[in-house]
Amino acid sequence: MKKVTAIIFTLLVLIACSKEKTEIVKMGSKGSNLLEIKNFSQSTKPKNIILAIADGAGLNHITVSRLAIGGPNHKLYIDQLPVAGNSSTHAYENLITDSAAAATAWSTGNKTKNRYLAVDQDKKELTTIFEMLDNKGYLKGIVATSSVTHATPAAFYAHIDSRYEEKEIAAQLLNSSVDLALGGGQEFFNLEEVEKNHYLLTQKASLEKNYDGLKNIVGLFDEDGMERGPDMPTQREMTNFALNYLDDKCNGFFLMTEGSQIDWAGHSNDVEYMIREFKDFDLTIKDLINFVSADKNTLLIITADHETGGLQLMKQKDDSFIVQWGTGSHTGVPVGVYAYGPGSQNFNGMMDNTDIFYKILEVLDYQNLKNSTCGENND
Ligand SMILES: [Zn+2]
Repeated sequence: MKKVTAIIFTLLVLIACSKEKTEIVKMGSKGSNLLEIKNFSQSTKPKNIILAIADGAGLNHITVSRLAIGGPNHKLYIDQLPVAGNSSTHAYENLITDSAAAATAWSTGNKTKNRYLAVDQDKKELTTIFEMLDNKGYLKGIVATSSVTHATPAAFYAHIDSRYEEKEIAAQLLNSSVDLALGGGQEFFNLEEVEKNHYLLTQKASLEKNYDGLKNIVGLFDEDGMERGPDMPTQREMTNFALNYLDDKCNGFFLMTEGSQIDWAGHSNDVEYMIREFKDFDLTIKDLINFVSADKNTLLIITADHETGGLQLMKQKDDSFIVQWGTGSHTGVPVGVYAYGPGSQNFNGMMDNTDIFYKILEVLDYQNLKNSTCGENND
């Protein structure tokens, strides 16, 4: 009898676990705002790099956002990028990556274990692209709607075998060559310590001021990840501040800007939250496209670290549609890669996430970069 009860219990657990969550979403009707997309000569090399990360956004997150905003024929800003490819995302020892291993692939060109940041599978320190470009006079910035010590931004400046050691990661940020970091994460820092060598911003209003010539800005707008609301800057606002600050027309710059919470919405299987977060990301892309068109010296690359939630588009129901979440975790499907600007043609087709690191070095012609980019004209 006991055995039968155990079998029934196991079956009930299995049924409960396999029950996928479905949600209904209203189809949007907003018209598309088509931006001017320029042609860049294939022989021009970019000076500046912007890497925009939609954490956890698979192709279906983009599809669902498109439908919810403007319906099936709508064009999001990310849809207007002229070059598109896709990327495999597996980690060193696992088909399913986390953000730490994926971001380490972009920042160092190496596969590592999940949870590891810019160290290899044997915990040996890896040089990051920020450290390489620091030697060439580049300015380096990170923007995230999570804490600035969260896995994706941290892989560009920290070397540690656990992404969860955020106080240690915060200390490493202050000792790193990062010129600008904007996001959440006050609770991981000793703010007095920050102010010794950095200019600390904590209010959204500070982003309206001009900090020309000031070195080392750290903006910490919330305790941990950024609680959305009118008093909090958006990814778009922080990214625009970063562009103003980093683009000094002399040194080249590398900006990593992340829509961190698209992933969190996927973990909570919350489609409305996901679409809200994706909208901020897509508006960020709008401003980045316009920046690239005007600047002519910047390559914009957009990708995701992995898909989160196993999101599926199931069927239409009148003027709405039904989506289904398959998991509360990450999945192993490929993600999109999009690019715009000089060098963008290199990001076409199927690639691995580690290739993105090597492709960036190649388009910058890193081997031949002078020790300072000041005074060069790449037009
Ligand atoms: Zn995640």
